[in-house]
Amino acid sequence: MSRFVFDFDEPSGGGRELLGGKGIGLAEMTLLGLPVPAGFTITTDACRAYMKENELPEGLEAEVERHVRRLEQRTGKRFGDDADPLLVSVRSGAAISMPGMMDTILNLGLNDDAAEGLAGRTGNPRFAYDSYRRLIQMFGEVVDGIDAHRFEDALTELKERRNARQDTDLGADDLRELVATYREIYPTFPSDAREQLLRAVRAVFDSWNTPRAQVYRRANDIPDDLGTAVNVVQMVFGNKGERSGTGVAFTRDPSTGEQGVFGEFLANAQGEDVVAGIRTPQPLETMRDTMPDAYAQLLETMRRLEEHYRDMQDVEFTVEDDALYMLQTRAAKRTAAAALKAAVDMTDEGLISREEAVTRIDPAQLDQLLHPTIDPNARLDVAGKGLNASPGAASGGIVFDADTAVERAKDGPVILVRWETTPDDIHGMIAAQGILTVHGGMTSHAAVVARGMGKPCVAGCEDLSLDDGVARIGGRELHEGDVITIDGGTGRVFVGEVPLVAPRLNEDFETVLGWADDVRRLKVRANADTPDDAARAREFGAQGIGLCRTEHMFFGAERLPVMQEMILADTEEGRRSALDRLLPFQQADFEGIFEAMTGLPVTIRLLDPPLHEFLPSEDQVTDEKVRARIRGLHEQNPMLGLRGCRLGLVYPEIYEMQVRAIARAARTVGAGAVVEIMHPLVGFAEELRRLRELTERVWDEEAGDVPRLIGTMVELPRACMRAGEIAEHADFFSFGTNDLTQTTLGVSRDDAEGKFLTRYLNDGVLERNPFEVLDQDGVGGLMRIAVERGRATKPELKLGICGEHGGEPSSVAFCHRLGLDYVSCSPYRVPLARLAAAQAALEEAGSAQYVAAGG
Ligand code: PEP
Ligand code: MG
Repeated sequence: MSRFVFDFDEPSGGGRELLGGKGIGLAEMTLLGLPVPAGFTITTDACRAYMKENELPEGLEAEVERHVRRLEQRTGKRFGDDADPLLVSVRSGAAISMPGMMDTILNLGLNDDAAEGLAGRTGNPRFAYDSYRRLIQMFGEVVDGIDAHRFEDALTELKERRNARQDTDLGADDLRELVATYREIYPTFPSDAREQLLRAVRAVFDSWNTPRAQVYRRANDIPDDLGTAVNVVQMVFGNKGERSGTGVAFTRDPSTGEQGVFGEFLANAQGEDVVAGIRTPQPLETMRDTMPDAYAQLLETMRRLEEHYRDMQDVEFTVEDDALYMLQTRAAKRTAAAALKAAVDMTDEGLISREEAVTRIDPAQLDQLLHPTIDPNARLDVAGKGLNASPGAASGGIVFDADTAVERAKDGPVILVRWETTPDDIHGMIAAQGILTVHGGMTSHAAVVARGMGKPCVAGCEDLSLDDGVARIGGRELHEGDVITIDGGTGRVFVGEVPLVAPRLNEDFETVLGWADDVRRLKVRANADTPDDAARAREFGAQGIGLCRTEHMFFGAERLPVMQEMILADTEEGRRSALDRLLPFQQADFEGIFEAMTGLPVTIRLLDPPLHEFLPSEDQVTDEKVRARIRGLHEQNPMLGLRGCRLGLVYPEIYEMQVRAIARAARTVGAGAVVEIMHPLVGFAEELRRLRELTERVWDEEAGDVPRLIGTMVELPRACMRAGEIAEHADFFSFGTNDLTQTTLGVSRDDAEGKFLTRYLNDGVLERNPFEVLDQDGVGGLMRIAVERGRATKPELKLGICGEHGGEPSSVAFCHRLGLDYVSCSPYRVPLARLAAAQAALEEAGSAQYVAAGG
């Protein structure tokens, strides 16, 4: 028969998944011989069974009873006894920690008689009634949903009547009176200890599915079906007097990683006093004077824990009459800076290897280091919230359109606030410190472009409304020039200026990424369209450009009218004349990029978007001929229309001009230019065959024997299926997983996010947004087919990815396993991708176990 309950000193064979983080920590500390109160863990299996049937699984009650008996034997006290009761705490503990999300109840086993018994036995009635009133309150709140304020108000009122400043100023009689009041607030409090225990266990199981826990899991990508374990622990009492207390401590500073313990302690208190912020805890060092033995033992215990786990720990402990008890240990949550420092220091200390140091850093966290962030000490008043579309924080005056952004940015920082952005807004986005949109999701234009630029962006902020030069948010009305602050790392929006702290790229960062580079196989390139981006990408360690989108190059003030003239021309001749004038601009752009990336490959994608994106809307134009042309270019579904290589086949002169500009730039720059020309949206081998012919012909005219590669994006399901024949005409494939996701799922990336996709995610139809995290089974399955078929035709075919997924850790790992040669992502994500690629290589080699910080 399967077991649902294990004592802390019994082997369970199940690990963290079965016992939860707290349970496994208590079991391991017990095994290490550290001072841990006796107790047992009810497994996550039991929780899952309970969630299925909404009923405690068969046999659980009897099993719990057997373990309670064992606990009674060990402690020499009886549970439910009136004279000398055994008291226990019931503590939640999931496999992945969800701090503060689930419930804990202390002092179970007390009732009117047992409280009297405890008072007599300990000679400390104040302590007995303090414990009892805490039980009634916690049990009432957690199990029966009684409003916490009712208890707190009663306590405050009593303190006022007694002129007591702190809880600890109340005496035994006061607390006895408080208990009577609490019993009136909560008349159905059960007196039977066993009933208390079983109801508490159910309540902890139930707390797995509270809305706040669900929200937390969604935000942290924790699966909903893990369930929580429940730990039943013999009570030790921090509220017995001045020789007792409770605290939390870290083995190193969690915000800087500095060596040396760091923590807080509260004398004569139980754990929830610290959490609830009722009393202000003292720095841990105060224990050195007040209880030196317990303090020394704590330091020694923490040293042993760090040595055992070979990672920074965060512990909870209680001191009862000078004796130390450990209640929890886990890998400490830490800032990115602290994670890097601790990893480097622990490597220097010989505690971990370089490979392990690499696995200890959460790649997604590196973002924190690359952007200014909100000062953690700032007092904040959040006005609204949207999606955390691009990390970093920025303050500035509001502007509502791109031209004003450029104008006003000359006088000071601005935040571009739009319903949503389009390629037309690019100059305003460049000028602004940050971007805020009402509409759009994580892969909306604003989000993608902002991430590419490394600019903070909050997208899809539905708390914001815009009309006619007025923005309304958080009950305020704001006009052009009014200052706001956005935090793209969390999606928060603030009215006014909030203090920021600058990014700190330090030596530890370079050190750990250097170690990562030593072990990774995947190369990391950047998506970059300008020399500035290219230079930045290189600073962050990019090994080339995997996607240079050329469409942005047609938007400058001098260029757009010529581009429009080209599009509106009736004849090929007219188009060629305009293209001749665009060519020098393109050539200069490419020269700048080749120079910034000298010696490293640069993949240039020929024009991709539908032409109407370069034209004004019909109602902005009076000329009837132009209006007719705009109408003519209208498409019901432009993303599936005349775009990508279809443009190159219908208007070959456009691609000819682009290839010519690339070739001339390569010739001018010389040997440092390593050119890869890429054709977008290919679905048929014949498309690429013809375009390769065009590309080679123009190249030969301009640059003769200068080496270059010609390849294709793979962003249509048909291209994956027919990769074998497409590869005959390609030197490389680059997976465009933005379009490939859109076309595989039949989900429009521009339209879906604010609408049903968000709903799907909330309702759990989908676990992850497939535009952020690669759909490995579906889209990834097609990629696998393309890799196999492409390489079967051409074993030396170069393979990469340049969709947004190229900068997402789990997708990078997938690309590693698929055997791609490189990933390409926005410059600011390059460090993250380097680290993720290294972790994937290490995981494959099995040389280090991935231990997520805070797990
Ligand atoms: C893609 O489709 O993945 C891609 C990189 O191209 P774009 O996002 O420019 O369509
Ligand atoms: Mg695409």
